[in-house]
Amino acid sequence: MNKKIELSCEVFPPKGEDYNNKINILLNEIKELYSHNLALISVTYGAGGSNRDNSLKLVKTLNDLKYNVMPHFTCVCSSKEFIEDYLKKIESLGIKNILALRGDEPSEIDVCYRDFTGANDLVKYIRNKTSFNIAVAGYPEKHPKANTLDEDVQYLKQKIDSGATKIYTQLFFDNQDFYNFREHCEKYKINVPIIAGIMPIISYSGLEKMTQMCASKIPNQLREKLEKYKEDSKAITEIGIEYASEQCLDLIKNEIDGFHFYALNKSYSTVKILNNIM
Ligand code: FAD
Repeated sequence: MNKKIELSCEVFPPKGEDYNNKINILLNEIKELYSHNLALISVTYGAGGSNRDNSLKLVKTLNDLKYNVMPHFTCVCSSKEFIEDYLKKIESLGIKNILALRGDEPSEIDVCYRDFTGANDLVKYIRNKTSFNIAVAGYPEKHPKANTLDEDVQYLKQKIDSGATKIYTQLFFDNQDFYNFREHCEKYKINVPIIAGIMPIISYSGLEKMTQMCASKIPNQLREKLEKYKEDSKAITEIGIEYASEQCLDLIKNEIDGFHFYALNKSYSTVKILNNIM
């Protein structure tokens, strides 16, 4: 492989009781993942209703342990004061990268501030107030609320023009969707690295939940194979490793800039995939 491919993984902060035990388990998984030449570990913020305080706590822990950590940060329903304060907190830790997102309106929130309407407002604000390298989200199958991919990519272009320098994509299972998305990015003169979001499938029910949440489609052939083994979690994991490895190898052949693994806080499958492709 000639081209340098950037590798990263996403983790989410543990929820519920027994935080200390859960964090120790997660740190072991991260240690294993990071030993495979990862450029960074990203930490989700409030995704799927996860606790936002625990996100900052995990970011601090990983930063103290000298990992290159990229916090995700969403602006939906947050006041300008809160956003300013949060950015100061993570900047004071010496963190260099941030993934700027709008997020989805959390159901449990009482007051929804409208100081920032979308990720583009947040990118502009971060650009003006801080020295972070800013990354943003992109959607190979278009954002579920967008009318067309064209419209969606034009909006993505605004985020790049406002100062974002990298795109992390939503997870996808059909590389043709990614290539089509990349062509749209070229059409709108988006010239920043596009890091492909890859999710190793580790359970059938988990896959259904994730793909519904992200509105990513599962190709028929893959679905049929998974359905055959849906009660056999070991077989599902192996199918997931095989599928993601083939997906990554095809993307490498087609000059991918990098992979961002939605590792679901587990190292096993992602490490196997990395061993298969690098
Ligand atoms: P935006 O870029 O603001 O907009 C989303 C879409 O809305 C656009 O693609 C566009 O189609 C449309 N749109 C918005 N504004 C305009 C406009 N002015 N004109 C026209 N169209 C417009 N969520 C979390 O809560 N926490 C996380 O940690 C998290 N991490 C993520 C990581 C990645 C890599 C990805 C891909 C998504 C992540 N999400 C996360 C989910 C994300 O918050 C949702 O998809 C959300 O609905 C949109 O966020 P965004 O930053 O893409 O929003």
